[in-house]
Amino acid sequence: MDISVIVPLYNEEESLPELYEWIARVMKANGFSYEIIFVNDGSTDRSWQVIEELSRKSDAVKGIKFRRNYGKSPALYCGFERAQGDVVITMDADLQDSPDEIPELYRMITQDGYDLVSGWKQKRYDPLSKTIPTKLFNATARAVSGIHNLHDFNCGLKAYRREVIKNIEVYGEMHRYIPYLAKNAGFCRIGEKVVHHQARKYGKTKFGLNRFVNGYLDLLTLWFLSKFGIKPMHIFGFLGSIMFILGFIAVITVGATKLYDMYHGNPYGLVTDNPYFYLALTTMILGTQLFLAGFIGELIVRNAPERNKYQIEKEL
Ligand code: UDP
Ligand code: MG
Repeated sequence: MDISVIVPLYNEEESLPELYEWIARVMKANGFSYEIIFVNDGSTDRSWQVIEELSRKSDAVKGIKFRRNYGKSPALYCGFERAQGDVVITMDADLQDSPDEIPELYRMITQDGYDLVSGWKQKRYDPLSKTIPTKLFNATARAVSGIHNLHDFNCGLKAYRREVIKNIEVYGEMHRYIPYLAKNAGFCRIGEKVVHHQARKYGKTKFGLNRFVNGYLDLLTLWFLSKFGIKPMHIFGFLGSIMFILGFIAVITVGATKLYDMYHGNPYGLVTDNPYFYLALTTMILGTQLFLAGFIGELIVRNAPERNKYQIEKEL
């Protein structure tokens, strides 16, 4: 099979028939063999009935129905599990992404050799309250992930070589950073294609402004995991050592000052009158705590199934 289209959706009943017709039209015109996997993320409207009707009409339509709303990442995860096409395309259900982009995305993966091609909504039809934070968000994501050629990490329209999605694990709200996940898994040929974007026709957006707060926290998490995920001691031990050394210097200063003053008959007070005493106290306690965090991290990693999971590309 050439292409799997994965469509995560939550309460998008009005858009689905139109989206299906459009995808089917594009596929037919280009002679692709394909499947469309609709992942109904606990919709409370008639979305699932619509999907059932569509699947009666066409064998290419497949559906997954969650019992409740889990989020876009879990929906993508289950779609990825099921996908069989050589090229896997994800697309939002709200008709903001255009199926007309599919042939070119397919070509970029199969002929230009990209592992992943992300859409770039260069001209957006979204409110300003969304486009401005989005710019900031993308700049940060570029800096942290080191993928400097992407303008639009969170674009719902993306294409992947099948191996990519079978070897990464999207969870929580990590769908915003799939290119980063792919890069961490060793898929470095990441490209971009300018795509048409349209204003939402039906329904309303499912993500509020808290997406940006959560987005930043998730980015931090990913950065941390990619750097220290299987060697936590390297960060905690490092910070702990710095703290401990600072504390040690402070202790020596406190002790030496007092001894010096005693021997030379200078007036001297209690060590607790010396500000360095408090510095020594806090930094040494913090240093010990950081070390403990490192050791506990190492104990956890020792039992983590990921500790020896590698991406082996070829073997002879
Ligand atoms: N979506 C989903 N589960 C959710 C929230 C959203 O499957 O909990 C789907 C939604 O139906 C749409 C896509 O994810 O197909 C993108 O959502 P939306 O259009 O609301 O996001 P925006 O375009 O505002 O970024
Ligand atoms: Mg949308």
